[in-house]
Amino acid sequence: MNTQLHSNALHELDRQHFVHPVSSWQGHEARGVRILKSAKGATVTDSEGRQLLDGFAGLWCVNAGYGHESVVEAAAEQMRRLPYATGYFDLGSEAPIKLAAELADRAPGDLNHIFFTLGGSDAVDSTIRFVRYYWHSKGQPNKDQYISVEQGYHGSTSAGAGLTALPAFHDGFGVPFNWQHKIPSHYLYRNPVGSDPATVIAASVAALRAKVAELGQERVAAFYVEPIQGSSGVLVPPKGWIKAMRDTCAELDILFIADEVITGFGRTGPMFACEEEGIVPDMMTTAKGLTSGYSPMGAVFLSDHVYQTIAEGAGPKAVGHGFTYSAHPVSAVVALEVLKLYEGGLFENGIKMGDRLQKGLAGLSDHPLVGDVRGRGMLAAIELVTDKDKKTPVPAELQAATRLFDRAWDNGLIIRAFPQGVFGFAPPLCCTADEIDAIVDRTKQVLDLTLEDPEIR
Ligand code: PMP
Repeated sequence: MNTQLHSNALHELDRQHFVHPVSSWQGHEARGVRILKSAKGATVTDSEGRQLLDGFAGLWCVNAGYGHESVVEAAAEQMRRLPYATGYFDLGSEAPIKLAAELADRAPGDLNHIFFTLGGSDAVDSTIRFVRYYWHSKGQPNKDQYISVEQGYHGSTSAGAGLTALPAFHDGFGVPFNWQHKIPSHYLYRNPVGSDPATVIAASVAALRAKVAELGQERVAAFYVEPIQGSSGVLVPPKGWIKAMRDTCAELDILFIADEVITGFGRTGPMFACEEEGIVPDMMTTAKGLTSGYSPMGAVFLSDHVYQTIAEGAGPKAVGHGFTYSAHPVSAVVALEVLKLYEGGLFENGIKMGDRLQKGLAGLSDHPLVGDVRGRGMLAAIELVTDKDKKTPVPAELQAATRLFDRAWDNGLIIRAFPQGVFGFAPPLCCTADEIDAIVDRTKQVLDLTLEDPEIR
């Protein structure tokens, strides 16, 4: 970072007072902050006036792209008229009711009941509570064990972080709890059972069955999956994997929860990634693309059966779960406007551009540093290796993806750096063909520059 940035008063205030999420607090003090000032379409401008293509849509959330006036106007109008209304005590407001109906209309199967949250973590946490309530209502309170998948990410609340399987979210935090269990990921590029889809699927089904047998079927409450594992570096399961896991859960009487916080709202092509294999989860979590990051909101979708069971179990008693900002009217109008943009052409564009992105990145597979290129739609990752045949990972201490992030930034591109030399792409669905080509070209330039890095080669 240059000296001008370091001397800037805002940067000093940041260093002294602003605690950054999921950052090295110490490292941040040393590195300082990069400040974004404005954005339009898929391009953001930083405090130095540098224009960057946002290849990661903020934090894989600005699916519609930046600067849509219709969204801004709707939010401003709602703020003027009614900035807040609670959903507690049988109160409500127009926008969240309309939004719930619109979402139910588009949701897979009978996911007809929507509980609003502030984001993805509290959506996942809400499902953890609803799962318990469901089994309690069914008279099976001993079903209290949860299973999720290694390398998964399900948020950063205490209970959600326990379902998550990334060490940084566990170490020192006292999670996972003793009721939270994992089975191995499908991670095709480095799966000990190989990369044959049928073998990987059979291994995952067998692992789930074995874990359920170990815990006792009468104890297992729910199984959590991301249709594509995002935060561990965009791990795409083989076709048929999610259906096989869903079917196994149905057979074993375990609730199946799909965490679509990243994959929802057109990120992989269809509105929800579950649609790809025609499965209907018992509950589904969404956030990010729901409001396209214009304001915070998440949504839990509950099936008719789960909703009715909880409602009947509670009877006249309150189901004691909710937040002050559940169903915030400003976020709800934002989501309604964003939905119009998606269906007014953005989903369609995202499918075309996703295809272009996947083809473009696949063209980089021959690069000497590229071990694996993977993704679906507008979601992708490249895994770096130092030896392609042996799949030798770049040593973690070299922080290859972070170096790439810095070089990409200098080249006018924002990508996401994951540990272990993986970097990711999740561009806004509004990208033009030229912008997608620029993302691919700049990535190639950055890979070439990295190849010259004596520490990495
Ligand atoms: N679930 C998944 C699959 C996610 O990717 C994320 C965030 N990246 C979350 C949950 C948590 O969402 P939030 O950061 O909005 O709390």
